[in-house]
Amino acid sequence: MTLLRLILGDQLNPNHSWFTAPDPKVVHVMMEIRQETDYVRHHAQKILAIFAAMRDFARQLKTLGHRVRYIAIDDGSNRQSLIGNLDALIRHYGATRVEYQAPDEWRLDHQLANWGADLSIPCHMADSEHFYTARGDAAAFFGARRQWRQETLYRHLRRQHGILIGENGEPAGGRWNFDAENRQRWSGGPPEPHDPRPEHDHRKLWQSINEAGVSSFGQPQAEALRWPLKRAEAQALLSDFIERALPHFGAYQDAMSRHARRLFHSQLSFALNVKMLNPREVVDAAIAAWLAGRAPLAAVEGFVRQILGWREYVRGVYWAKMPSYRDNNALSHDLPLPRWFWDGETGMRCLAHAIGQSLEDAYAHHIQRLMVIGNFGLIAGLSPQALHEWYLGVYIDAFEWVELPNTLGMSQFADGGLLGSKPYAGSAAYIGRMSDYCAGCRYQPKLRIGRDACPFNALYWNFFQRHRARLAANPRLSLVYRQLDKLPDAEQAAIAAHAAALQANLDTL
Ligand code: FAD
Ligand code: SF4
Repeated sequence: MTLLRLILGDQLNPNHSWFTAPDPKVVHVMMEIRQETDYVRHHAQKILAIFAAMRDFARQLKTLGHRVRYIAIDDGSNRQSLIGNLDALIRHYGATRVEYQAPDEWRLDHQLANWGADLSIPCHMADSEHFYTARGDAAAFFGARRQWRQETLYRHLRRQHGILIGENGEPAGGRWNFDAENRQRWSGGPPEPHDPRPEHDHRKLWQSINEAGVSSFGQPQAEALRWPLKRAEAQALLSDFIERALPHFGAYQDAMSRHARRLFHSQLSFALNVKMLNPREVVDAAIAAWLAGRAPLAAVEGFVRQILGWREYVRGVYWAKMPSYRDNNALSHDLPLPRWFWDGETGMRCLAHAIGQSLEDAYAHHIQRLMVIGNFGLIAGLSPQALHEWYLGVYIDAFEWVELPNTLGMSQFADGGLLGSKPYAGSAAYIGRMSDYCAGCRYQPKLRIGRDACPFNALYWNFFQRHRARLAANPRLSLVYRQLDKLPDAEQAAIAAHAAALQANLDTL
């Protein structure tokens, strides 16, 4: 009797109960396949880091005495598809049972479930033992409510798990939310902590990926790949974050700067999403720092909210609404991405920096993703599906379950307001307030119209003009509409004309 256990590339959790003790009857199967490199065009570092981390994980399992069948991208027996390889391995080993951990992506979940249903041997899906919530928990919690809110689920999970909750059942510090303290601009101090990530030389692996014909974009940085590729490295990154960055995480959470790529963000999303780290240990480490007086409550709460709140919430939206969720386009936006999404070469300094950094590092922090790149996509009317493909390809941490609700829901309002209560639209005033991008930009942040006017301004006001029928009744936007309505008709017409010209010439900006 042989049991095949499939480990996907984002299931690199050495503490999973599957690995408690080696069993000669169990063969662990891992594979590098074109099906996974090609479903969207990926950043080079994303392909490299996932394959390198998978190879390391397979080595670790073998060292611990587990049987592992690893199919490399250039292996002659590689059928380059999940099912093709699994069928061949079942025959090869005479397997009598197959098991896999719950995939996080609907695409793979659907594929494996359909395949397993037709198999002549038993096929079982095991828990991935990673998240706080089960796939369907958020849907059950929100029931038939038309609008879901992160805050509601977050408070429920805080209470359920006793996280930052006092003995009286009230939130620690007497408040659920410290956003008011958490919105500061960064002007160079406190200094951004040094980047503690390890460097790996993966030139050989990069060569085999290229020789296998895999297409990618962005800089591979194969000679100094800077992502944690094993649990011990991820733990070191977590410790460094807790010590050096967490104390300032809250205050500068929304800040952006040309002189700091990560500011006080953790860069832990890759390690979390491939499951080298468990969200509980990350949350616990942050709380321990607060209890020891090494980080303020506002910073710790802000950070815990990202993981216990947003990360679990977007996953809940994903599983409740897929597969139709990815087709949402409530605002009927359909413009293609401008060419500079692929090279960062635009005169708009904020976008040149945020996109340039994304192409170079496969990383941008949340506010760059949301309030610079996503914001432009929203107010310019870019296709949410085209943006989804770009975001899914470009970031090191991009897996559809977390990327899609963030892109379509939070950033593009394409779900019509299910995930968030209002569109994240901002003009140059917002970007100027939260960053140092505008000084030295070829555009003028205070101008709305004209050759030198910052494109964000006309596009911002025109976004609200174009979508008045849908958005004007939203109480959170009443101030915006009051401001818009105060503008003279002639100025409103000039804004609309300028925005239309910008939309027609996005490539040239
Ligand atoms: P930190 O700021 O240090 O936050 C800590 C952790 O909290 C992150 O590592 C992440 O696990 C979690 N987190 C924070 N914000 C979110 C959020 N909105 N949703 C889910 N988890 C969150 N995150 C991804 O992991 N993968 C994606 O593909 C992804 N795509 C995004 C696309 C758009 C348009 C936007 C606006 C956000 C996206 N995010 C995505 C969320 C967030 O931007 C990243 O998690 C974060 O920037 C990762 O960097 P960090 O680890 O330094 O995060
Ligand atoms: Fe961006 Fe406009 Fe500021 Fe230039 S002026 S950096 S385009 S917000």
